[in-house]
Amino acid sequence: MQTISKASSAISFFRCPSKLRSQPCVRQLHLRKGLVCRVMKFVSSPLRTLRGASKSIRVSNFCSVSNISSLQIELVPCLNDNYAYVLHDEDSGTVGVVDPSEAEPVIESLQRSGRNLTYILNTHHHYDHTGGNLELKDRYGAKVIGSAVDRDRIPGIDIALKDGDKWMFAGHEVHVMDTPGHTKGHISLYFPGAQAIFTGDTLFSLSCGKLFEGTPKHMLASLQRIVSLPDDTSIYCGHEYTLSNSKFALSIEPNNEALQSYAAHVAELRQKKLPTIPTTVKMEKACNPFLRSSNTDIRRALGISETADDAEALGVIRKAKDNFKG
Ligand SMILES: [Zn+2]
Repeated sequence: MQTISKASSAISFFRCPSKLRSQPCVRQLHLRKGLVCRVMKFVSSPLRTLRGASKSIRVSNFCSVSNISSLQIELVPCLNDNYAYVLHDEDSGTVGVVDPSEAEPVIESLQRSGRNLTYILNTHHHYDHTGGNLELKDRYGAKVIGSAVDRDRIPGIDIALKDGDKWMFAGHEVHVMDTPGHTKGHISLYFPGAQAIFTGDTLFSLSCGKLFEGTPKHMLASLQRIVSLPDDTSIYCGHEYTLSNSKFALSIEPNNEALQSYAAHVAELRQKKLPTIPTTVKMEKACNPFLRSSNTDIRRALGISETADDAEALGVIRKAKDNFKG
């Protein structure tokens, strides 16, 4: 079950006085945790974990009582159009934040709920994803987690993870996926128990990140990897770009009915200043042009030859998007 608090209507997505940011959207996932039982292996193989044995014992006790647990994901607007995500494990009270562009809105969120911060998780090194790291680390003593590839570029990094690592967040398994293209060391963080993935600037709703340190081939492989997850996986990306992305997507695939209807929904949400995030794997497969580079309508619209492979086509779509004046 997913719910969005009424408070979401008060979100402001643009730089604004802190009091206007004081009512973020809370998306709460009540999870069935078959996962919790899998967490038991965490007892015998500690991985790079959180709180050691006492935590494991609590999880095992919990597992015997109930098979339900929950993770809250709170969208925290930062800077002009970034999202940080505050993760709260309701059972243990453990709190993490994904990609804190700046510290202040995250601190406000934590103060409202009277919580501490244990972890800072970064998808990549860019300042608008790590700008709050050092202040939050200093204030709460939180550990910073990021890609081993970017260990020299992520401020305050304590725990460096590699592709395929399974890290534990308060009993929630986190799969680390290398998703390069936007940056070399970009990772996405997949929480299978929560059916949620944090994709930073790799996959946006209806678009993908700019190719600063990678090739179209890298980006295509990264996007395909993300959408190989189950269709109902929720995708939490780093920016609220969906409305402008929808205009570009419609310009090159105007007859895609799923896209037409999603774009109308997105426009309605943004008119009410509501977030369009999370999106889903299913929606992106149906509507995101960067996942549809083999589509003949898109190719025709951009003059991409039939013989071009999907990565080449993605490169052309990316250039067209970079030059698009919606
Ligand atoms: Zn970035």
